[in-house]
Amino acid sequence: MALIAEARVGAAKGLANVVMLTIGTGIGGAAMLDGRIVNGKQAAGQLGHVVVQADGPICVCGQAGCVELYSSGTALGRLTAEAGLPSGLRCEEILEKALSGDVPHCALLASWAKPLRAAINTLSATFDPDVLLLGGGLGGAAGALDFAPAIGRWYQTPVRTAALGDDAGMIGAGLAALELAGLRHVGKKVVLVNGVPASGKSRVASQIANRLGWQMLSLDMVKNPFLAELDDVDRLFNRRLGKASYRAIWDIVAAAPPGAGFVIDAWFGFQPLEQLDGYLASSGVDGLAELWCSAPPEVIGERYRARLTERLPGHPGESYVPELIELARSAAPTGRAPSLTINTTAPLNEAATLVWLGEKLKL
Ligand SMILES: [Zn+2]
Repeated sequence: MALIAEARVGAAKGLANVVMLTIGTGIGGAAMLDGRIVNGKQAAGQLGHVVVQADGPICVCGQAGCVELYSSGTALGRLTAEAGLPSGLRCEEILEKALSGDVPHCALLASWAKPLRAAINTLSATFDPDVLLLGGGLGGAAGALDFAPAIGRWYQTPVRTAALGDDAGMIGAGLAALELAGLRHVGKKVVLVNGVPASGKSRVASQIANRLGWQMLSLDMVKNPFLAELDDVDRLFNRRLGKASYRAIWDIVAAAPPGAGFVIDAWFGFQPLEQLDGYLASSGVDGLAELWCSAPPEVIGERYRARLTERLPGHPGESYVPELIELARSAAPTGRAPSLTINTTAPLNEAATLVWLGEKLKL
């Protein structure tokens, strides 16, 4: 699942042939060929059990000399102790000291990285991947491989650190669910990212759109080019442009091919909800979910105030803040779809949000 996430939206985005080693207390892994995870009969991907020393110690799997025995987090701890270095050193600290030329740290990294390099070479020879990812708690140790450089033409596979961290598995599960839903349904899917102005919805919408690979649409995206080109836009005209932009957004959804997915960032309460019902009915949407962006009303007021200087002409000014705070107190989701409340004063939990969307949109 972690590899699916990395190949769709992470460090191997867009690549079809990827091998990943997950380095923690042990070493796990997965391989993707032509965009598909290699499952074998059942148990493919036990990459921690690539042998790097045929006469080495016996592994839990029964054979001798698996890479997990030499280059896992557990092994790094053991090597650190054997070298007489302080226990509990983080890999980054060891790497930093080694890069500054400290001999015991260089030796430590070389002993840890050489078996890892041997395993990577074997994987390169077996799969010839576009890239090999290192994930897990020690995924950041890719730099240690400089102490055991690749040799020979076959073995020049780029090695990168995985991008999604501990959440990769969850994100992968969410994406897999969405892809299954996409295979079964030809209707369009829309995520409404709703909230009053300055509720923090644009950031949420763009994060989710990026993760899903869906088109994001927002009122400002349609409206701002007009605001930039037209002179003397007052609040009334701004509202008319807003209405027209809202309509343009749903025209775009209606014109999209079956199976398309959109993330729409708007304050949906600015128009009657019956109008939304009409747009939904005429645009071929059969999967709908709502992310309701919320923050304490005073925080929303403050955010709005702080952005006043960046707003284009036609947006209401300082005098709108008390009105906005009142609006924030009474505003609510559309009630047209399952709704998940996002507290925008905290970082977005992308993994949990994607899993929730996967469930709700699987239909
Ligand atoms: Zn083993």
